[in-house]
Amino acid sequence: MDFGFSAADEEFRGEARAWLAAQSPDTGDRRGWERTLGAAGWIGIGWGEAGYGNRTLGLTQQVVWAEEYARSSAPPRSGHIGENLLAPTLIAHGSPEQKARFLPPIAAGDELWCQGYSEPGAGSDLAGVRTGAVRDGDGYRVSGQKIWTSLAQDADWCFVLARTEAGSRRHHGLSLLLVPMDQPGRIEVRPIRQLTGTSDFNEVFFDGARARAEHVVGGEGNGWQVAMSLLGFERGVSTLAQQIGFGQELGRVVRAAVDSGAVDDPVVRERLVRQWAELRVMRWNALRTLGRAGDAGAPSVAKLLWGGWHQRLGELAVAVRGASGSVGPREWEASSPYELDPFQHLFLFSRADTVYGGSDQIQRTIIAERVLGLPREPKGVV
Ligand SMILES: Cc1cc2nc3c(=O)[nH]c(=O)nc-3n(C[C@H](O)[C@H](O)[C@H](O)COP(=O)(O)OP(=O)(O)OC[C@H]3O[C@@H](n4cnc5c(N)ncnc54)[C@H](O)[C@@H]3O)c2cc1C
Repeated sequence: MDFGFSAADEEFRGEARAWLAAQSPDTGDRRGWERTLGAAGWIGIGWGEAGYGNRTLGLTQQVVWAEEYARSSAPPRSGHIGENLLAPTLIAHGSPEQKARFLPPIAAGDELWCQGYSEPGAGSDLAGVRTGAVRDGDGYRVSGQKIWTSLAQDADWCFVLARTEAGSRRHHGLSLLLVPMDQPGRIEVRPIRQLTGTSDFNEVFFDGARARAEHVVGGEGNGWQVAMSLLGFERGVSTLAQQIGFGQELGRVVRAAVDSGAVDDPVVRERLVRQWAELRVMRWNALRTLGRAGDAGAPSVAKLLWGGWHQRLGELAVAVRGASGSVGPREWEASSPYELDPFQHLFLFSRADTVYGGSDQIQRTIIAERVLGLPREPKGVV
């Protein structure tokens, strides 16, 4: 793709930067920040369809916004699952009534979503989903367990991949249901404590939870196609913004290496330079593939590159600090969330980077099969 920023893009950059600089968000009030973004029309800029309270922008201006957001001190988003996963899926597969009901509150930052895909027996092998939804009057009753559900503790709604055809197997008989989370006694959210001491994701138990019949996306029994289409929205413009964050983190690690004297070690220097060079490669790769719809391997190559890169940066961050960077039993045994400095947090949280959004092994299989044309993986091996 011939990628460059026009004068209009740069003018827009000024507008975005000035708006972000004028905000002073309360980092503890994640919902309040979503509403502030929504009121200014910044949610849903990439939907390609206006009329829901969002403004729509072209690809380069979406990149500019994402870059400026990453450069600003604005807090991490808590509405991204609704904005970047569910909303594009509703635009592609939803009924007019579903779009009219769900897109405006997402654009306003009023309703937060979580993703109910993974289960204890269905992660990489998502077709192993066992959560069931049975018809009951004008709706469904959902029963089963989801796991690793990010932000479920804050979410108003969950999109749940469930088996609506009793006795069906694998990809058949599944549906994507939109389930309200406020159902005491029928939905229980149990936080999972992570290595970092915090709980960003959860187990979610459904015990006869209600979902309305008209809240099945793409029609009953089409859940697999809709769920896969949703995963296709998982990456894109945000990759370039993510790399700006990576560049800032790398800069901090380099500074720490200089301060601690670790940079005098030729092995450390080599590792730092390698991180820098690989980040450049990731940027050119992202620019090369941006907007190239239907490139089967591009998202997998990008995920494979950044997951491992970020994990190695975490290892380097702790290494350049020497003994003072280590995290030990004292922290792990603490009963309440413990204080980690940013490098320790980077090291511990980045262990997940090669797992979520499709593990490294799964990405390699996709690249092998869809890009290199190698024979398909035999079923039932793992
Ligand atoms: C931080 C984080 C946030 C998450 N948020 C959500 C969320 O909001 N909603 C949600 O639904 N899920 C979420 N997940 C779950 C995530 O999608 C799964 O962890 C992921 O799909 C892997 O599934 P699993 O954990 O069951 O591991 P498994 O699938 O059991 O894999 C275990 C290991 O086996 C390997 N493996 C599995 N199958 C194969 C194969 N065929 N070939 C080669 N190797 C294989 C994997 O690569 C991995 O190393 C999150 C996970 C993390 C870490």
